[in-house]
Amino acid sequence: MGQLAYPRALLKISGEALAGGERSGIDFGVIDRLANELVQVSATGVQLGLVVGGGNIVRGAAASDQGMDRVSADYMGMLATVINALALQDIMEKKGLTTRVMTAIRMEELAEPYIRRRAVRHFEKGRMVIFAGGTGNPYFSTDTAAVLRALEVEARVILKATNVDGIYTADPKKDPAARFLPELSFQEALVNGYAVMDANAFGLCKENRLPIVVFNINQPGATARVLAGERVGTIVQ
Ligand code: UDP
Repeated sequence: MGQLAYPRALLKISGEALAGGERSGIDFGVIDRLANELVQVSATGVQLGLVVGGGNIVRGAAASDQGMDRVSADYMGMLATVINALALQDIMEKKGLTTRVMTAIRMEELAEPYIRRRAVRHFEKGRMVIFAGGTGNPYFSTDTAAVLRALEVEARVILKATNVDGIYTADPKKDPAARFLPELSFQEALVNGYAVMDANAFGLCKENRLPIVVFNINQPGATARVLAGERVGTIVQ
């Protein structure tokens, strides 16, 4: 493990990423490609946890805008993350990875309850842990869940998988003068209002000095390269 840049890491995958080009639902082709990437990562010996979002199925805030009670809508969102986690697990295991889904809300017929020490044990045994159910609390996001779990299991970095190469000074699709930023401090990200993660999650990273790498998950081999310590995407630290 000595030469690994990040011996244990957490990858946050949004629900949107799992929808591929669609606005909602699960694109199994996307999961298949992701699984191939993660097989490569796993072969390097990095202990990897996944935190999966649910925005491709339900977003609490959006459902509550439609008239639903916010707390119930958020629970629906948390359940959505479990649906995604089971899809990820199935495909990862078909590729030969050993995985465990751990949920923040108990549903023991289909997944283990999240218990920190048990999660750490899974990592030590080389299992990929898929954290589902967010934090288990309404009014939070899976970004916050990702940071929380990363801190709890002592992951050394959070990888935020996106569809863009990293952080730019402006939206590169709209502004030709937009500059790519390979590296920035928490303070610079905050002052300039770069949306790295939601404010709660970002604050938790900043306070605990947990680096975040924002990178394009669609680039082949990117996840493995980030974890090998190569300069890929934008690192906020
Ligand atoms: N959610 C929640 N508490 C959590 C995590 C998630 O209430 O700790 C709900 C919230 O309604 C959110 C939905 O689950 O909109 C899906 O999660 P998120 O929006 O973070 O998913 P992503 O944007 O990553 O797909």
